[in-house]
Amino acid sequence: MKDKYEAVIGLEVHAQLKTKTKMFCGCKNEFTNEPNINVCPVCLGHPGSLPVINKKAVELAVKAALALNCKIHKKSVFARKHYFYPDLPKNYQISQYEEPFATDGYLIIEKKDGTKKKIRIRRIHMEEDAGKSIHEEHFSKVDLNRAGVPLIEIVSEPDISDPEEARLYMQKLRDILVWIGVSDGNLEEGSLRCDANVSIRPKGSDKLGTKVEIKNLNSFKFIEKALRYEINRQIEVLSQGGKITQETRLYDSQKDITKTMRSKEEAEDYRYFPDPDLPPLLIDDTWLEEIKASLGELPDEFKERVIKDYKIKPSDADILSRNKTLAYFFEEAAKSYKGEAQKVANLILSDLLGILKEEKMKIEDLKFPASYIGELLNLVDKNIISLKVAKEEVLPEMVKTSESPQTIVEKKGLKQITDVSSIEKIIKQAFENNPKAVKQYKTGDERKKQKAIQFFIGQVMKATKGKANPKLTRELIIKLLNEV
Ligand SMILES: [Zn+2]
Repeated sequence: MKDKYEAVIGLEVHAQLKTKTKMFCGCKNEFTNEPNINVCPVCLGHPGSLPVINKKAVELAVKAALALNCKIHKKSVFARKHYFYPDLPKNYQISQYEEPFATDGYLIIEKKDGTKKKIRIRRIHMEEDAGKSIHEEHFSKVDLNRAGVPLIEIVSEPDISDPEEARLYMQKLRDILVWIGVSDGNLEEGSLRCDANVSIRPKGSDKLGTKVEIKNLNSFKFIEKALRYEINRQIEVLSQGGKITQETRLYDSQKDITKTMRSKEEAEDYRYFPDPDLPPLLIDDTWLEEIKASLGELPDEFKERVIKDYKIKPSDADILSRNKTLAYFFEEAAKSYKGEAQKVANLILSDLLGILKEEKMKIEDLKFPASYIGELLNLVDKNIISLKVAKEEVLPEMVKTSESPQTIVEKKGLKQITDVSSIEKIIKQAFENNPKAVKQYKTGDERKKQKAIQFFIGQVMKATKGKANPKLTRELIIKLLNEV
């Protein structure tokens, strides 16, 4: 039954903009646990108060729209969207309706198998956030700190065909918005929120089925799981001869199901009309050019460039391009290293990130310059320390103390032993202590010989705390075994 149907999915994503103040008043835009402290007559909807457009919010919104390849409209109009809810003091939300500031964009997602898909963006509009209702057993509380916080709503075309694509779209969107500094992209705290519209239709049909909206998708995992559940539910309804009802459903992550929340409102229910208190929003060419110039390199551009310039694995470039700080940390480190940049990527992505995770730190918390990573690998290439010592002794110490690799090597006495006579002395001692292994080398087959060599390398490393030069140690062991 399942393969007779295909899903059609569109996502509506709300992103809070990282401004200092709210969209139409001077109240602070910050997340706080103390309720109703960031409020004023404007965001409380007192009669006679007048909204003023926050220029920074418009700048960030335009930045986002440019990064998402949208057409920016020089003139757009703020409209009132009417509905009643206790956390909406004005009884309308200021939004944009018929004339949004941006339309016709796209972003490219990359699937696991490497295939790319373009997901079109229908429109992006600016609006203000509502407050928050907190429901307790016998009463509800309203917190209006969030009322009036600037948002953009990004509406995709229904180009998404399965739950995995929906998750990839959302992740890519988050990565871009965070990279350009427009939003902090935190789904758990609600600064990025996603609603999905999903319908199914017989495969190959070009008609759209009845769509259902799903809310409460506050993690990437839930987006994928909720859609998977909902698509299967709709297939089941249709294949049993039933009909899909147009409605809004909530995702229950505990039970992993979606359930009816309310029948879906039509746009006419909101009685949109242009807000008479606000003039049309005008974006002139000079300002638009300034914003364009401030955009800088985007994640996909960075990725392509580092693959070309630094010859690192595309999968590594992909991980780097998901965090701007990490991305340019890598590039700085690679510039200060004389060898292959892939070694820098390896050290950062597996070893450094591993240490940071253990220390419960982020790349942003590092106090030492990225060039230290390059210098650390230069010490390995100059045979001053082994790679093992670099990873296990020096790098963790760099994270803790922010000292340079040279300082740490000196301080902890980690320099490699490259002096032939000292290593020979240790090898001879190891032979004396382990006559059986020497005999094994002398009388055994090739496999046994190799095993004995490995054993003595281990003994020397143990005696020198890993500081003996591995290549030299191996050569000397073979030479001395043949002389015994
Ligand atoms: Zn206010």
